[in-house]
Amino acid sequence: MASEDPDSEEQLAPYLIEGARSSRSKCRTCKRKIDKGSVRIGILLEGPYGTGYLWHHLTCAARRRFEDVEAAYAEDAASPGTELPPLEELKLLKEKAEEKRAQKKTAPYVDVAPTSRAKCKSCEEIMEKGTPRITLLREVTFGNQFRSTPIQVHPGCVAKELAAEDCQTEADGFEDALRANSSDLDEAVIDAALSEIELLQD
Ligand SMILES: [Zn+2]
Ligand SMILES: [Zn+2]
Repeated sequence: MASEDPDSEEQLAPYLIEGARSSRSKCRTCKRKIDKGSVRIGILLEGPYGTGYLWHHLTCAARRRFEDVEAAYAEDAASPGTELPPLEELKLLKEKAEEKRAQKKTAPYVDVAPTSRAKCKSCEEIMEKGTPRITLLREVTFGNQFRSTPIQVHPGCVAKELAAEDCQTEADGFEDALRANSSDLDEAVIDAALSEIELLQD
């Protein structure tokens, strides 16, 4: 039974970053063992069977769940003496990982702009963080080689891009292909993006 004394129940912070105290914990992201001394982040889980930290390599967490790493840094969650990499460095890992995941996907697909830094390859305007963007394929030449490269554009710029000569994404069946390739995304986001795409009907 729980004690009435409030001091006896240790309050755990939502995050803890520290050098692993043993080699026994496993990273919940990559499923590999976390070597003693390597920097790990604990994310507090309050479950029906108790409260405790789920551990991740700090770098793995940065790649998969950067929001948690950012929150942990903001809360000064590191135990004293932990050698922390700068947050900027971890952010680069996150961006690289996102890029890699995007490259693995097949165009055309919808996703959500992770930052407000990238410009639409069609109109050259910024794509705002959190808004849907569409990835299409464009043909580019390197010397005498042709290659398809993924480009990101505003939904509102899709129709113009599909009509462009160097566009490698078919306008025929575009909506079906987009839905099929974006199935990991919430349908509401896909619908919202599609509503902004005015395909030329024939
Ligand atoms: Zn890991
Ligand atoms: Zn645009």
